[in-house]
Amino acid sequence: MVRTLLPAGFAGADRPERWPRQRSAPQPESLARSVETLPGVGPTAKRRLARLGLSTVGDLLAHRPRRYEQPLPERRIVDLFGDEEAVIEGYVRRVSGRRRGRLHVLTAHVADDTDEIRATWFNQPWLEQKLTTGTRVRLRGRQNRFGFAVESYDLGDTHDTADFAPVYPASEELSQKQLRALVEAALVDARAAGDPLPAAFLAEEGLPLRGDALVALHRPRSIAEAEEGRRRLAFDELLVLQLALARRAAEREALVAAALPPPGELVGRYRDVLPFTLTDGQERVIAEIDADLGRTIPMQRLLQGDVGAGKTVVALYALLRAAETGRQAALMAPTEVLAEQHFLTVEPICAELGVRVSLLTSALAAKEHSLVRQLAASGDAQILVGTHALIQKEVEFRDLAVAVVDEQHRFGVEQRSALAEGRAPHVLHMTATPIPRTLALTVYGDLAVSEITTPPADRKPIVTAWVGEERSSEAYERLCRHLAEGRQAYVVCPLIEASETTIARAAEDEAERLRRAELSGFRVGCLHGRLRTAERRERMAQFKAGEIDVLVATTVIEVGVDVQNATIMIVQEADRFGLAQLHQLRGRVGRGAEQSYCLLVSRAKEELTDSARERLEAMVETTDGFELAERDLEIRGEGQLLGARQSGLSDLRFTKLRQDQELLERARGVARSLDDEGLLADAVDRLLGESDHLGES
Ligand code: ADP
Ligand code: MG
Repeated sequence: MVRTLLPAGFAGADRPERWPRQRSAPQPESLARSVETLPGVGPTAKRRLARLGLSTVGDLLAHRPRRYEQPLPERRIVDLFGDEEAVIEGYVRRVSGRRRGRLHVLTAHVADDTDEIRATWFNQPWLEQKLTTGTRVRLRGRQNRFGFAVESYDLGDTHDTADFAPVYPASEELSQKQLRALVEAALVDARAAGDPLPAAFLAEEGLPLRGDALVALHRPRSIAEAEEGRRRLAFDELLVLQLALARRAAEREALVAAALPPPGELVGRYRDVLPFTLTDGQERVIAEIDADLGRTIPMQRLLQGDVGAGKTVVALYALLRAAETGRQAALMAPTEVLAEQHFLTVEPICAELGVRVSLLTSALAAKEHSLVRQLAASGDAQILVGTHALIQKEVEFRDLAVAVVDEQHRFGVEQRSALAEGRAPHVLHMTATPIPRTLALTVYGDLAVSEITTPPADRKPIVTAWVGEERSSEAYERLCRHLAEGRQAYVVCPLIEASETTIARAAEDEAERLRRAELSGFRVGCLHGRLRTAERRERMAQFKAGEIDVLVATTVIEVGVDVQNATIMIVQEADRFGLAQLHQLRGRVGRGAEQSYCLLVSRAKEELTDSARERLEAMVETTDGFELAERDLEIRGEGQLLGARQSGLSDLRFTKLRQDQELLERARGVARSLDDEGLLADAVDRLLGESDHLGES
């Protein structure tokens, strides 16, 4: 009997003596080939692959294994014991298939030179004709009372039973076996594609060739080997990101902004009308902004700070700095609701200071809309508030000097018309989604970062409690006690995946139900995205003025709503929300000196998924947004990164931010040195092109 016909491991014979290996003539275009060019892929398989986001050979190569199979002992059949998981090798003596109800059971008698065993497969009837007598097989599985239950098998020269076989994100339509075979076929092209980075550089950095890294990722002989491969791929990913950021920074350097004179009389009066003194943190950021505004290099600053830290106050300062020199400023928000909310906050102060501010929303009638645009063009509107989309698409300013961008889409904020003349506004990006430092460096690598770390002194941390649904009546009783004392409250409706209209109707229904039941006797208002602008404004104004006791709302209140007298919040079905979102929602209370509360109501704790439970526990344990952001990363794992959406670039596929900090620093260094050598443009094109082929763009 011939043993070890099949290799015990993957990379095996292919593992080079030394990394990097010699380069072959690169053929990067091969990675852009459709999956259809691979053997065995017809229209059906193509469709199924597309549903996993895999359309090119490069996509397959970038399909990162979720994990690897454990190494298993290879046993002689006579040595199998108990239900131990093991690998056996032998040949087929005979085979038979039968149906038991909806289950198809295939049984093959497999023998080696020590013994014979009955191996069973479920629901794979087509295997019967392949398992002809004498066929060699290698099987991974474990014994049960029916025989040897096969988990994976090798027929011919496949490698599914190998130690560290990759386990991919698969689907019901595409088996692990199929994906492994396809990736294996794609690996031929991985090496042929060559390497975008110079061999000498790789040797210096101790990184494997990209092709080798891909082989190691998909066919490792050990976990360490897989990790070595992953790190190279992560390095490329980080380098692409850093190069793109460096390129943006370089493009911006060619632009000129208006250098503003030192702070004048208007911002002095602004400080006077504020009902409080600014915190040290706010003063520090203001000083940083003032320094930026005095230069002709356009400001690109990120202002980070937890919800309620006092960023908006600082943002308005920056806007007024433009207004006081006769120039214009824009405040851009991600949603119309938030734009309106900002307007409601900013307008009274501006009125007091004699500054003309306008709101531009898509809800305006055509006539008003064009009027506001005219005001911007003539310079009569000193400050314009609106959504990013609206302001960037529709508005020409006479002289835009400062733009504040609240949340999201930090790229492409440069104003079109200003850009055309090589002029750019000073831009302040604000984010209330706290981003861990490492991530800030990755995503916002080209920005200067300011942070407000401590909220205004009289703030008390919000007390958060988590209760099961069965105790939700207690939560409402507590809420009513606050209302009876003259405080106000929020009730956040469950997050449902439905159309805006359905969500709105659900919120209205819930408000109506609460009016009759738990909240009867109180004035209940409802806020959602389907209200007309005027109605929404009216309702927010009413709530602010204390004419409504409870605001029943969808997540439209997530950002920006600012009513200090609102001291308690109930979040219904809190387990459905993400951690960042819960934190944002909670930030609507605790904005004044009063002690505030957040009550999270969820299904019974036993019914929740682990991650839902972890999220809610984290909310109870801390109110620190940065801490929560770190926890969020841990709970969600890498991949879908907090804030990556905002980068305009894709999620990082191979990077593990916590682990790869040093790699990130190196990528930054390399991106910069390429810039120094004037190689930036080439490198970016090359790497971005490469990553296109890998489906990462
Ligand atoms: P953010 O935009 O960071 O969420 P805001 O600027 O909206 O925070 O401030 C939150 C609340 O705290 C607002 O009601 C604001 O008026 C108030 N606030 C801001 N700065 C101070 C300060 N220095 N002292 C007291 N209250 C402040
Ligand atoms: Mg705010």
